Amino acid sequence: MSDTKFVLSEKEIPRQWYNLAADLPKAPLPPLGPDGNPISPDMLAPVFPMNLIEQEVSSDRWIDIPEEILEIYSMWRPSPLYRAKRLEKLLDTPARIYYKNEGVSPAGSHKPNTAVPQAWYNKQFGIERLTTETGAGQWGSALSFACSLVGLECKVFMVRISFDQKPFRRLMMEAWGGKCIPSPSTATQAGRNILEQMPDTPGSLGIAISEAVEAAVTDESGKTRYSLGSVLNHVMLHQTIIGQEAKKQLALAGEKKADVIIGCAGGGSNFAGLAFPFVLDKINGEDITIIPVEPASCPTMTRAPFAYDHGDTAGMTPLLPMHSLGHNFVPPPIHAGGLRYHGMAPLVSHAIELGLLEPLALHQLECYDAAVKFARTEGFISAPETSHAIAATIKEALKAKEEGKEKVILFNWSGHGLMDLKGYEMYFGGQLQDYALPDEEIEKSEEILKTYPKPVIV
Ligand SMILES: *Cc1c(COP(=O)(O)O)cnc(C)c1O
Repeated sequence: MSDTKFVLSEKEIPRQWYNLAADLPKAPLPPLGPDGNPISPDMLAPVFPMNLIEQEVSSDRWIDIPEEILEIYSMWRPSPLYRAKRLEKLLDTPARIYYKNEGVSPAGSHKPNTAVPQAWYNKQFGIERLTTETGAGQWGSALSFACSLVGLECKVFMVRISFDQKPFRRLMMEAWGGKCIPSPSTATQAGRNILEQMPDTPGSLGIAISEAVEAAVTDESGKTRYSLGSVLNHVMLHQTIIGQEAKKQLALAGEKKADVIIGCAGGGSNFAGLAFPFVLDKINGEDITIIPVEPASCPTMTRAPFAYDHGDTAGMTPLLPMHSLGHNFVPPPIHAGGLRYHGMAPLVSHAIELGLLEPLALHQLECYDAAVKFARTEGFISAPETSHAIAATIKEALKAKEEGKEKVILFNWSGHGLMDLKGYEMYFGGQLQDYALPDEEIEKSEEILKTYPKPVIV
């Protein structure tokens, strides 16, 4: 019998994070301030602690993981690598399919891989409280968990409609001691302004970010900072623990190389975490196809321009060089809440511009179909976000069958869907539809982004 699972010992947890910025053939572009000039690290100091800002701007290839963080990682890391033997059989493919199971963390996704170091570095810096936003509640629960371990208060602004409709993630936050507030709220000026204009608004991620940033920077004690769960360089960095482990595990499985690497991409962090160590191999000449997958209803990588844009709706953040649908963009309400972001991580966007990645957009019905096939073969119930990676994997496995090739396909199983069963209910009830974003929407975004500086990679 061949092995199903490839498990490393705790001693084999990687000791360093990998920074792709050090190896990109052309240098990443800096964020810009309101005057159009690159921002300096100290301009970010009211929002993030300096030790994380140093990671954000670092060009060092390797960054040591502090012992205390390794100690916490050992609660769920190394995460197991699975061979999807039963899915392979269903597809009758010559491809060997592997997945990294990031659903084994206490919060149920890859997000604690960065929530823990972010909380820990803030604590080191003397911070007492973190604020953040959350859409469906995955990031808010991961950060509440991390704060409870290192001894920080955690205040989460949760998009109103999710707060009302998805009580379970909110209850997880409360179980870990986090304070969860529906956004827009009366706790911030940004929230009060919105409520005055639109008392019945369901809220949005952009509004919640504005509230969380405001709550951090206006705290007069100076002991509050803001935390973001994806998009930024230091978040991509922390997640690279996933790909480094996966390489060791593929070797354990007897594989000499991977041919195809796949991850779903909202802000880009779980994809980057798995893929960036393999992007390095590609830069060094290896033949690997690396695929970030997004929803066709929120097509940042496949249809939106590479532009300078704000990370939030109110325009409080610096301008980031990224594929963006525009900070005003309101994504249609598809179920993969974690993939409904208007932008894409600058490092992922940059790698796309350099031709290192091959992004793919998929419709949600195909993704739910893939998640159900996965549940009925591999057993695990996937998050709706993760289902995009599974659908792309199935496509690649069927392509390998057509070509008669024994490919090695690796994807990131970013999290379980046990808190997202409502989406499955709607899928089974035939209540979900596919939605392709009309061209006019893209043109509208391009129009808005025209007024900003253009990023030029040299
Ligand atoms: C948040 C989330 C995502 C999307 O975020 P990224 O930063 O792109 O990884 C994907 N999968 C799961 C399970 C998530 O919780």
